[in-house]
Amino acid sequence: MPGCFVHHCIVSPRRKPKHRSSSDSESILTILQVLDELLSAGTDRRIHYMISKGGSEALLQTLVDLARTESPDYGILLPLFRLLAKVGLRDKKFGQKALELEALDVTLILARKNLSHSQNLLHCLWALRVFASSVTTGAMLGVNGAMELLFKVITPYTQTCTRTIRVATEVLAALLKSKSNSRRAVNRGYVSGLLRLYQDWHCHDTVHAYMQIRRALLLCLKHIAALRSGREAFLAAQGMEILFSTTQNCLDNKTMEPVTSLVLQILRQCYPKCLLPLVTASSAYAFPVPGVIVSEPSCVLTEEDFEDDDEGEVDKDSDSEDLKEEDNDLETDVNKLSSKPGLDRPEDELKQYEAMCLELSCSFEELESRFGDDLNFEEIECANHYYIPTAAASPKHHGLNKDQSPWGLEREDIVQASILSMVKIERSTVHLASKKRPAMKADQNVDSNGLRIDSSGNGIPDVQASMKEDTWDIDAVSCLRMSASFSNSTRPKEIAKVTEKLLQTHPKDIPFHNPYLYMANARRSRSVADFKMMAFPDLWGHHPPSSAQPMLERKCGVQRIKIFEDVRRLIQPNDVINKVVFSLDEPWPLQDTASNCLRFFSKFESGNLRKAIQVREFEYDLLLNADVSGTQNQQWFYFKVSGMRAAIPYRFNIINCEKPNSQFNYGMQPVMYSVKEALLGRPTWIRTGYEICYYKNHYRQSAAAAGGASGKGCYTLTFAVTFPHSEDACYLAYHYPYTYTALMTHLDILEKSINPKQVYFRQEVLCKTLGGNPCPLVTITAMPESNSDDHLEQFRQRPYQVITARVHPGESNASWVMKGALEFLVSSDPAARLLRENFIFKIIPMLNPDGVINGNHRCSLRGEDLNRQWLFPRAHLQPTIYHAKGLLYYLSSKGRSPTVFCDFHGHSQKKNVFLYGCSIKETLCQAESTVDASTLSEDVSYRSLPKILDKLAPAFTMGSCSFLVEKSRASTARVVVWREMGVSRSYTMESSYCGCNQGPYQGLQFGTSELEEMGAMFCLGLLMLELRSISCSHQLLTRAAVLLNTEEEALDHHLHRCSSSNSSITTELEDEPPCMEEIDYNTDSSSDPEGGCFELDQQIQEYAFNMDNGKEEEENLGWERKAIP
Ligand SMILES: [Zn+2]
Repeated sequence: MPGCFVHHCIVSPRRKPKHRSSSDSESILTILQVLDELLSAGTDRRIHYMISKGGSEALLQTLVDLARTESPDYGILLPLFRLLAKVGLRDKKFGQKALELEALDVTLILARKNLSHSQNLLHCLWALRVFASSVTTGAMLGVNGAMELLFKVITPYTQTCTRTIRVATEVLAALLKSKSNSRRAVNRGYVSGLLRLYQDWHCHDTVHAYMQIRRALLLCLKHIAALRSGREAFLAAQGMEILFSTTQNCLDNKTMEPVTSLVLQILRQCYPKCLLPLVTASSAYAFPVPGVIVSEPSCVLTEEDFEDDDEGEVDKDSDSEDLKEEDNDLETDVNKLSSKPGLDRPEDELKQYEAMCLELSCSFEELESRFGDDLNFEEIECANHYYIPTAAASPKHHGLNKDQSPWGLEREDIVQASILSMVKIERSTVHLASKKRPAMKADQNVDSNGLRIDSSGNGIPDVQASMKEDTWDIDAVSCLRMSASFSNSTRPKEIAKVTEKLLQTHPKDIPFHNPYLYMANARRSRSVADFKMMAFPDLWGHHPPSSAQPMLERKCGVQRIKIFEDVRRLIQPNDVINKVVFSLDEPWPLQDTASNCLRFFSKFESGNLRKAIQVREFEYDLLLNADVSGTQNQQWFYFKVSGMRAAIPYRFNIINCEKPNSQFNYGMQPVMYSVKEALLGRPTWIRTGYEICYYKNHYRQSAAAAGGASGKGCYTLTFAVTFPHSEDACYLAYHYPYTYTALMTHLDILEKSINPKQVYFRQEVLCKTLGGNPCPLVTITAMPESNSDDHLEQFRQRPYQVITARVHPGESNASWVMKGALEFLVSSDPAARLLRENFIFKIIPMLNPDGVINGNHRCSLRGEDLNRQWLFPRAHLQPTIYHAKGLLYYLSSKGRSPTVFCDFHGHSQKKNVFLYGCSIKETLCQAESTVDASTLSEDVSYRSLPKILDKLAPAFTMGSCSFLVEKSRASTARVVVWREMGVSRSYTMESSYCGCNQGPYQGLQFGTSELEEMGAMFCLGLLMLELRSISCSHQLLTRAAVLLNTEEEALDHHLHRCSSSNSSITTELEDEPPCMEEIDYNTDSSSDPEGGCFELDQQIQEYAFNMDNGKEEEENLGWERKAIP
C-alpha cells in the first residue's frame, strides 16, 4: 500500500515539471515527510515493498527533475536526499538505477556547487555513498571526477566540518573498491596524500574521537593496495613504516581495535612477496621411480607468481554460490552409485592371495604343527611384557627384568576385567577427571609448555636413582646410530658402548616396546636418504602421560602480535640475523658446535625438517621438506633440536605450510619429547608450546612449484617453546610419531606375546613397496576349539573384518588407533576372545610404509596420494593398493566379502573421531537429485556401527559422520570397496589431530592412550554390531549375554544416558565454537568492515534529531561522543 501511494504521489507532479508552482513544492515536501514517517516506522519490509513498486526510480527521477531547475529548492532537496539514502541502502540495484536515470551527474554537480556549504554538501555525499555501493556505478562516478571532488573535501587536514569529512572519506573508500578508480588514485599520487592525512589524524586525534575517519582512510588504502601498482606506491611512500609506527604501541588498545585490525590487513597485503628461501621446491630427497620424469621446477620468481590484478569490475552481491559448491561434488549418477564394475585384473591373478588366506584352506593339524614349531625369531631378547595393556587405562608399572614365561598364566590373571567394564569406568572416571581439570592443572605444576605432567611419581624410582643425567652425553645418545659397523665415525666402539650402556639402563616399563628389537628392525627399513640414525623417542619408547592434556586456550591478540613481529623484520632489521643453521640441501655442516644457536637434525625415520634459519637470537624460521618426488604437502614435521637454554622462550615459525587453516588455531599443540626427561624416567611425548597460531604469510611458492597455479600462498605455524633443561636434546613433531620400524617391532612383540594355542596370529608380507619395504598383513582369529569337523568348519566359516591404516603417512594418529586395535584383538579380554572366535581379522596396518619412513605427509614415493588410486591400481606403481584390493577381490570371489571394511585416517580440520560411509539414498537426497530415491532399495545397516561407536567410545561422535559419496572421492578405499566389493559397511575412520569438543573428553587434546582406546573400542563396536545382527549365532548371543550381564546394569544405564543426551546433539555439531579473537589467518579477509545500512541510517537519524531539537551542527564534536544518549 505505501508503495502505490508513493508512486502515485511523487510521479504525478512530474508530468508538468516545467510549470511547478510553489504549491507543487509544498505537496512534494508533504509527501516526503509522510513517506519518511511511514518508512521510519516498522521494519524494512515497508521499504522493500516500496522498492518493489518502483519507489527508488520515482525518488531518483524527482531528484533529477528538482536538480535541473534553475535554482534548486534545497528545502525539498535535503529531505529528498535523506530519503534517497535510506531507500538506496536497501535497494541492491540502486546504483544501477541512479546511473540510468542520470542521477549521478546531477548529484555531482550539486556537490561541486556546495563545496563551501557543508550542510548541502553532506546531503549530496550521503546520496553518493549509496550510489557508490555498486562497483560499476562507483567506476562511473570516478570517470566523472568524483574522486577529485572528494579529495578536495578531505585534504588538507582540518578539524572543521568533521561530519562532512567523515562521509567524504567513506564515499572515497567505497569508490576505491573499483579497480579503475584505485588505478586513477595511484596515478594521481593520492597514496602518499592519504598516508599523510592518516598520520595527521592519528597524531591529533589523541582521544580517539574520530575513529571512523581514521578507519575510512585506512579502507581507502586497503582498496588501493589490492592493486600491484597500489602496493608499490604504498611502499614508495613509506606506508609500511608509517602504519607500523602508528600502531605498534596500541596493539592491545580496545578502542583502537577497528583501526588496528585494518592496519594489520594492509601491512600484510603490502609486505613484499617473496619466494621461499629454498633452492628448489622439489623434495630434498630424490627417488627414481617408474613412470615419473623428474623435472626441476624453475625457481625464478616471475610476475605470474603473484596474483594478478583482476581487471573486471564485479559487484559481489551473489552470495549464496559458495554454499552449493560442496554439493556439486556429490555423485548423482545412479548408475555409478549402484552398478558394480567388473574385476580390474585377470581372474587367475587372484589365486596368489590364497596363500594369504590359509585359514580358509588349511586344516587344524597343519596349523598345530606350524605353531608347535619354534617361532624362529632372530632377536629374542625382549618381550618382558606379557600383560595386555588396555588402551583405557594407563598400564601399571612392572618391575624390571621380570623373567616370566611368555605364555604363562600370569598374563591372563592380569587382565581380568573386560573392556566392557572399561567402558563404564572410563566414561565415569574420565568424566570426573575432566570436570576436575583446573585442579589437575594446579598440582601438575604445568608451565606453559605442559611439562611435568608425570612428575607425580610416574617415573621409575630405581632407574631414576641410579641415573645421574650428567653422566650422559646427550648429543651422543639423543640420536643413535643403527649400527656401529656402518659408522664412518672415528669412534665406533665408543658409540657402541654408549648404546649398550644406554639400553641397559632403559626403563622397561613401556609395554609392547623393545629397543633391541627396534634397533634390529630399523636396520632393515629402507629409506631414500639411507638414514643411519634412530630418533631417540622411537628407540627408547613412549609412555603416555597419566591423563589427557587440555586444549591450549588461545590468548586474545596473539596472532596480531606475531604478525607485527614479522613486519618488524622489514622495518627494524637491526636485530635480524638470517643465518641458515640447518639445511638438507647443503652436504656440509652449517654450524660450528661452539656457536650458541640451536642445532637441528632430521635425518632419521619419519623425520621432516629441510631447513632452519636463525632469524633473531631466539627465533627460527623452519622449512619443511616436500613429499618425495613432489613439490607439495608440507605439513608433517618431526625433528631434533639441541643446544638450548632452559627457561627461555624460543619462537619457531614453520613458514611453508600449505593448508589454509589448522587445528593449531583451535587449541591444538605440537608434541615434544625431551631426552633428559626420558633419562630421568619420563619418556613421554607431551603436547607443548604456547602463543600458537597459524596464518597466511608473505611467502609464495613459484608457479612452477605449485603446479602452474600462480603464486600459491604459504602459511606460517608459529609456536613458542620453553625447554625444560639446558643443553637437552628435544624432539618436536606435528603429532605423536609412529614409524614403520615401530610397527614392525610392535608386530613382532605381539606375535610373541600371544598364546598360540588360543590365538591364531599370522604376520606375512602383502607385497614389497617401491622403496623395497615389506608391507605387513596380519591375520588374527581364534584357533579352532578342537580338530573336530564341526570346529574346523566353524573356524573356516567365520566372517571377515578388514581394517587398514596409514595410507597417509602424516596421519600418525591412525597408527596409534591401529596399535590399540591390534593389542585389544590379541588380548585376553573376554570380548576380544569372542571377537576372535567369531571373526577373522585381516589387517594391513600401514598401507604406505615408504611415505612413513621418508617423512612424507601424504604421498607415496611416486608423489601420489595412494588413497586416490583404488580405482585402477597398478602392481608396479602402487603395489600396496593393488594387493590390498586384490586380497579384497579374492575374499569377494570366495563369497567372503568382509562384514566391515575400515580405513583409519587422521583429520586435521575437525575434532573428535568419526566415520565416513557410503549411502546412495543420502547422497541423492543431499544433492537434491531428481531421481526418486524411494524407489531404490538400500540396506541402512551402514548407520549401525557409527551409532554403536557413538555410545561406546568416548572420543567418537555420530554428529560428524557423513555417508555421502563424493565424485572427488571415487578412487578412495571407502568408495571402491563399497562399490566394487559390495561391502555396504565400508568406512573411513577419521581421528582428529587435536582432541574432542564433546563427550567425556571435551576440551582435552588426544594423547596416545585416547587414540589407542579408540582402536579397542572400534573392535568392541564390531562385536556389538554382530550381536545386533539377525545372523548372530545363538551360541554367541548366550556367551555374550553371560559376559554382558555382569556389566549390564551399568552399561545399560550408560548407553541409555548417552543415547538420550546425544539425540539432540547428534544432528549437527558446530565444528568450531567462536573464538575470542576473530581468526584472520588469511590476508584476503572476507569480513567486510565497511559498515552497512545501520551506520548511515544512524548518521542521518542523528542529523535529523539535532535539527528537530534546533541544535546547531556541532562540527567539532565526534559522532561517537554525540551518539551516547
Ligand atoms: Zn587421510
